[in-house]
Amino acid sequence: MKITFHGGAGEVGRSCIEVKTQEATLLLDCGLKLTPQGSEYPVGVTNYNFDACIISHAHLDHTGGLPLFKHRGMNCPIYCTKTTKEITKILLEDAFKIGKHQGVELVYNAEDIYDSLDVMKLVKPREQGRIFDTHFELIPAGHIPGSTSILLTTQQTSLLYTGDIKLKDTQLMRGAIPKKADVLICEATYGNKEQPNRKQSESILINEIKNTLKRGGCALISAFAVGRMQEILLILSQEHFNVPIYIDGMGKKINRVIKRNPQSIKNYSAFKKALARASEVRSPKARRSLLQRPCIIITTSGMLTGGPIMDYLKHAYANPKHTIFLTGYQGEGTNGRMLLEEGTIMIDGVKKQPLCRVVSLEFSAHADMVELKEIIKRVSPKILILNHGDPEAIKELEKWAKTLDFEVVAAELNKTIEVRE
Ligand SMILES: [Zn+2]
Ligand SMILES: [Zn+2]
Repeated sequence: MKITFHGGAGEVGRSCIEVKTQEATLLLDCGLKLTPQGSEYPVGVTNYNFDACIISHAHLDHTGGLPLFKHRGMNCPIYCTKTTKEITKILLEDAFKIGKHQGVELVYNAEDIYDSLDVMKLVKPREQGRIFDTHFELIPAGHIPGSTSILLTTQQTSLLYTGDIKLKDTQLMRGAIPKKADVLICEATYGNKEQPNRKQSESILINEIKNTLKRGGCALISAFAVGRMQEILLILSQEHFNVPIYIDGMGKKINRVIKRNPQSIKNYSAFKKALARASEVRSPKARRSLLQRPCIIITTSGMLTGGPIMDYLKHAYANPKHTIFLTGYQGEGTNGRMLLEEGTIMIDGVKKQPLCRVVSLEFSAHADMVELKEIIKRVSPKILILNHGDPEAIKELEKWAKTLDFEVVAAELNKTIEVRE
């Protein structure tokens, strides 16, 4: 078996792994990397003649390269779960729309998106499929709705690619149950970090919201559309708030995907109840008036890079009554990161110093360092390959793994790893 990383090696973004067995050439994920300078795509692919592409989950760093590969002639079936297909459609359409709006040079057409979606073959989690000599299975990964790890098995060897994975249960997702394999390709986003206690973060969120409402302000919760908005809704449903809860932005569409795929989350009836408590904001015009009375608003984008949250912030940033909540990782070069590091944000192209309260909490959908080590121990591979992490995160996890009884490799861009069978 030969494994080549065309992206996602020593970086978070553009995950794209080519796996060659004796009979099949497969592609695991096909992502893009969003940088402040634009999108970066997988590199070093010379032949787009794959037998199949298997997608772990819908996030753009795992799917955003599909239309480009389609454009360049990739003509194989793309296997994924139904939920992944539905969310991928929303994310690819949105990325294309934003790209067009920003006037960036587009490397593919809208048709390439729909051509990619057309060749998607739906696989149920835990169902087995086969491509020549390779059996594959999608195993729930606990990361976002529809997310899976990918297990490949040939007569000679087995490979587990975690995709993005979470071991512990969250409010929204059941934690992953990894299977044993000879080769483990493991994500390492939090390879060098422990996450704060989840229960504690949940109570801080609830208490900060209560304090905001008490002083007559609004709680503006910035959240990723996929997974995070729903996680926040579930956390809020544990408490009785005497004010309206509004949801706005792309998360509304994701909620509908979950309604169509109730099995994609841990407890659909709890989610249904949480959702029933909230109202959708239907028109951008309604936004400003919502801030006149105490309320809770959950909306995108999660890193303050655009979306309805910026509309709300424009009217709320100068008022100390309100609170803006950041609920996830803030990428380099984003407005959210600048707010955390410098205490300033760009509003309509002008740098402003918010007077409202700023609260940053983490409700990560990734395994942290402790969980990653547990995953690696449970899979107990002969070869461990680390990808999907910053170099420091990979190095830290690599150092720990080298004390164990197996070979450890940090994935390198376009360097093929040969697994002896
Ligand atoms: Zn992800
Ligand atoms: Zn990812």
